[in-house]
Amino acid sequence: MFDEKSTDADLVVADTAPHPVQPLNADVFTSLSPADRMVELRRVIDGPIVFTHGFGIEGQLLFHWICERGIDIDVVTLDTGRLFPETYELWSATEARYGRRIRAIYPNHRSLEKLVARQGIDGIYDSKEARQACCDIRKVRPLDRALSGAKAWLTGLRADQTDVRHDARLLGHDAARGLMKFNPLFDWTRADVLAEVAVHNVPVNSLHAKGFASIGCAPCTRAIAPGEPERNGRWWWESGHKECGLHMPAPKKS
Ligand code: SF4
Repeated sequence: MFDEKSTDADLVVADTAPHPVQPLNADVFTSLSPADRMVELRRVIDGPIVFTHGFGIEGQLLFHWICERGIDIDVVTLDTGRLFPETYELWSATEARYGRRIRAIYPNHRSLEKLVARQGIDGIYDSKEARQACCDIRKVRPLDRALSGAKAWLTGLRADQTDVRHDARLLGHDAARGLMKFNPLFDWTRADVLAEVAVHNVPVNSLHAKGFASIGCAPCTRAIAPGEPERNGRWWWESGHKECGLHMPAPKKS
C-alpha cells in the first residue's frame, strides 16, 4: 500500500508483509508513458494486479499494451447481462485479435433474481434507489469479488472525464478494499487516447461511430450530441453525478 500521508511528489509504495515492495518515486513514475507505468507497477507489486475492463476506448488501449508488452496483469470484465450486443461483439473480437481470454465476472444469480422480482427488469427508471440497487448487484458486488485477493486495481480512469473524476491521480487508494488503485491514463485526454488507438489499430466499440462516447449497459446509455460532455449519455434521466458506484468508496460491510 502506498503511504496516504505522502504528497504527490514523494508517494511511496510501502512495505506490506507478506508482500514487500520497493519504494517508488512518484515523480519518476509519473514521467513514464502509461504502458511503462504499468510495467513499473508490475515490477514493484508482489501480488495480483487486477484490471477491470469495461471495453471503453481507454480499457482497449490498456489491454493492447498489456498484451503487447506481456505484462502479468489479471484482466476481468463485469458482465452485467445488460450490455449492448456491440459490446459483446467487441469482447469476442478483442479476444480473437490478442489471443487472450478476458475473465468474466457475473452477478450472484440469487440476488439478481430477487432484484428483478422486486423491481422488474426495467425498474431502474422508477427511482435512483432502484437504479443504484441494480448497479449494486450487477456491478459493485461482482467488483468486490473480482478484486478479492488483489494487491492493486488497474483502471482506465481519466481525470478530465467528469467533475467526479477530476481528482483522479496516477496512484490512489481504495481504503475500504485495502487496495492501491492505479490509473495510468489519469493525465490523458480523450483525444490522446483516440490518437493512440488509431496508431495501433486497436479495436473499439462500433457504437462510438454512432455518437456513443462512454458506453455502459444498454438501458442506461444513449448517444450524445457533438460537444456534449462524454458521460452525459450515462443515466441521462437522472440529475447529479453520473457514476454507478464502481469508482466510489466501497460501502462498509455490516
Ligand atoms: S448501468 Fe443500468 S443496467 Fe447496468 S447495472 Fe447499472 S442500473 Fe443496471
